[in-house]
Amino acid sequence: MALVLIVEDDVAIRAALKRVLTERRNAVSVAGTGMAGMALLLQEQPDIVLLDLGLPDIDGFGVLGMIRGVSDVPVIVITAQDDDRSIVRALDAGADDYVTKPFGADQVAARIRAVLRRARSELDEDEVPIVIGDLVIDPLRRKVTLDGNPVAFSRKEFEVLLLLAQRAGAVVTKRELLTEVWQQPFGGADRTVDVHLSWIRRKLGETAAQPRYLHSVRGVGVRMVDPGQATP
Ligand code: CA
Repeated sequence: MALVLIVEDDVAIRAALKRVLTERRNAVSVAGTGMAGMALLLQEQPDIVLLDLGLPDIDGFGVLGMIRGVSDVPVIVITAQDDDRSIVRALDAGADDYVTKPFGADQVAARIRAVLRRARSELDEDEVPIVIGDLVIDPLRRKVTLDGNPVAFSRKEFEVLLLLAQRAGAVVTKRELLTEVWQQPFGGADRTVDVHLSWIRRKLGETAAQPRYLHSVRGVGVRMVDPGQATP
């Protein structure tokens, strides 16, 4: 069961999809234009979107771009058959899957189930606390404990810490941190990252010179390690 948003201008296709999905006990919203679809997306926060690429007002790719600007909701695009270029372009633009016209309703229902299953298992993974040595980071409650004691982090500090913990063992570049935490892929000051790293280190009771969890890799970035397993 899911809340499905269908953005499709073809009345017959829209009605057929709605019927099939409703029969399978989904809640279904429908929009016939890109703008109406965006409005419903923001209003109803659907679990998944079925998006026709050929819409009367805005190109489906434009709608997909707008969706990705505000939401990670899974999107399945509906496209004309044998149109590989559109499919590749849609997947590159952030679509999760596609169906080609004409399609059977059962096929669409199966795609929806598969995409939702994938999205939900990713979500579950994001909700499990990450344990690195004596450091426990709870993404859902945004809480951190060190040796069992709670440590308070600011929002940005927490996001930096979480990102490093999710990629523990790997070097994360300052550019990546600026992109993912500060959404500044171009420009943005390395200094911002340095300052936050030094605040995080202080709270973890370490320094850049004597690291435990956060190891700087000169000229590249920073790597989070379990101090109990760190190699000197
Ligand atoms: Ca269409």
